Amino acid sequence: PIKKLKDGLLPASPPEVHKEPIGFDVNNDKSTVSITVVGASGDLAKKKIFPALFALYYEGCLPEHFTIFGYARSKMTDADLRNMVSKTLTCRIDKRENCGEKMEQFLERCFYHSGQYDSKDNFAELDKKLKEREAGRVSNRLFYLSIPPNIFTDAVRCASVSASAANGWTRVIVEKPFGRDSESSAALTKALKQYLEEDQIFRIDHYLGKELVENLSVLRFSNLVFEPLWSRQYIRNVQFIFSEDFGTEGRGGYFDNYGIIRDIMQNHLLQILALFAMETPVSLDAEDIRNEKVKVLRSMRTLSVDEVIIGQYKSHTNGSTTYPAYTDDKTVPKDSLTPTFAAAALFIDNARWDGVPFLMKAGKALDDRRTEIRVQFRHVPAIYLKINNKVPGLGMRLDRSNLNLLYKARYSKEIPDAYERLLLDAIEGERRLFIRSDELDAAWALFTPLLKELEVKRLIPEYYPYGSRGPVGAHYLAARYNVKWG
Ligand code: NDP
Repeated sequence: PIKKLKDGLLPASPPEVHKEPIGFDVNNDKSTVSITVVGASGDLAKKKIFPALFALYYEGCLPEHFTIFGYARSKMTDADLRNMVSKTLTCRIDKRENCGEKMEQFLERCFYHSGQYDSKDNFAELDKKLKEREAGRVSNRLFYLSIPPNIFTDAVRCASVSASAANGWTRVIVEKPFGRDSESSAALTKALKQYLEEDQIFRIDHYLGKELVENLSVLRFSNLVFEPLWSRQYIRNVQFIFSEDFGTEGRGGYFDNYGIIRDIMQNHLLQILALFAMETPVSLDAEDIRNEKVKVLRSMRTLSVDEVIIGQYKSHTNGSTTYPAYTDDKTVPKDSLTPTFAAAALFIDNARWDGVPFLMKAGKALDDRRTEIRVQFRHVPAIYLKINNKVPGLGMRLDRSNLNLLYKARYSKEIPDAYERLLLDAIEGERRLFIRSDELDAAWALFTPLLKELEVKRLIPEYYPYGSRGPVGAHYLAARYNVKWG
């Protein structure tokens, strides 16, 4: 089973007070969990959610009694859903075991109900079917909103009115985008909170479920060697780099309304930054960690246009291959100024990080595919992270080796997909990796003035060739802070 961080690394905080009713012990014989994937006919459901649920089932992480329902407008039978889902399930964990058999067992627990997202009656029909499966047990219900954001509120209203759990918990996982700016995000939160308590809303940022991001806190707080170095005294700058080596490839419709700053920086990179830079939390409990992340976000300077470079990829011919420009994508308006690249310098005005540039760079259609955090230390000879060790053998010869953790080389087990971790956490009520509304507000507050200025002034992005290293401006921006991108 997936191991989770529990107490032990840091002093435990007082137990969290749950507002939820009793019955959230998902392994209790008398309770059951029903997971409804709202928008089950869509891409995310097929690509990520059902495969993650299967992987959890395969690993024995789902509770004994569980049912999965797909819900969408498309007309499908249970068999159609199973057929659709079976195409994307993989036996990636261990091909030698009885994976086919497990898949069959899993699919038998998947059902489908066709309904409108704004129909209380349709959700009441779902409720009836859920009750049949729950067979009188304490019911806990998880709704995964895998639908476009403009129908979130309708679906939450109808699900909460007609299909809330009668005696257990009801939780809702919401996918990004959480609005386009401070106002729309606040409006969405307000709308959701008409029907749900904050502790029922699980805002997913799948980056936070990634193994390496999870490991960031462990590395930092449970290896004594790092914490004393984690400040302006030793760290010269930190870089957060997201780069994709492909463009929107015909799926630019959604992207064009958001752009790279909203799609990657304001959420994924900023969340990682907050985790990286936060003060030591009282414990690894959800509220303690989220409290520290909010403090970092609130200590940051609002971004200004001078500290940002935006770019958009243009067509590029390499030999006989021509790579398209962003605006060649048929789903993108020809005159779009939406940035597909951005670089920014951010600052945290607190004692630990005063004056240290936190640089972010995110782009599509670049020369490389990676997500990276780079920490540049000051030029102090004492902080080489090389470890003295003895060379094996009878003599006493010393050697220096690098501190290097390559998961593939160290651990033979497959790394779980971020969605597996996050779904399991939502079922278990672990909120550490989900974004609280005050965090979201603070994140939008940092970026909203910049986003407005870019749009109102229709600032022209710097064009860079598809497959290149991005706009030259990003290098000048970094040079201003004595930084060379890694
Ligand atoms: P889809 O566009 O595939 O939509 C999911 C389902 O919602 C569709 O199958 C359709 O089901 C229904 N739907 C679509 N458009 C409308 C509409 N205008 N009105 C009512 N129903 C509609 O989305 P994805 O599956 O790609 O993504 C789901 C959510 O997750 C979105 O909010 C997206 O932004 C977010 N997301 C997606 C990622 C991905 O990799 N795909 C990554 C990160 C976030 P039906 O017609 O059967 O009702």
